[in-house]
Amino acid sequence: MSHNAKATSFHPVRHDRLIQEHRHDPYASRGKPAEPAVCPDCGAVFHDGRWRWGTAPAGASAQLCPACRRVRDEYPAGVVLVGGDFSAAERDETLRLVEHEATAESAEHPLERLMKIEDEDGSLVITTTSVHLARRIGEALQRAHRGRLDLRYSEGERFVRVYYWH
Ligand SMILES: [Zn+2]
Repeated sequence: MSHNAKATSFHPVRHDRLIQEHRHDPYASRGKPAEPAVCPDCGAVFHDGRWRWGTAPAGASAQLCPACRRVRDEYPAGVVLVGGDFSAAERDETLRLVEHEATAESAEHPLERLMKIEDEDGSLVITTTSVHLARRIGEALQRAHRGRLDLRYSEGERFVRVYYWH
């Protein structure tokens, strides 16, 4: 079918180190823990097939949740790069917005978390434990400031780079 030929011909050749590192996703392939389980790092509880905030039932086994594994391994699922010219006030506002979105998301979903916010040559580099949170932050920045937003997925959409320019 022509669809396949088209997909192949448009497949970009990438030499990006970070993307190469994400070729295999150990977090997706490790399987579900035995229930009930509680994460020793963040206290999230695995029950009925998903991680949520709550009180660990008696007899819960200690198992690191996928988000805390990513934090320990420094292995993000999403990277948000915020660039362009922005003032100190705009930078502070951006940081507040990022924190706000992450806090709202994490409150509902334990696996959606901010990892780090770093300064890199005047740009902000924000890492997250999930693709969804990185996208949410990018979209919130775009809504608030009307800048330019670009999402680049890789690894079967298990990893995303979000570029936002003020
Ligand atoms: Zn955890």
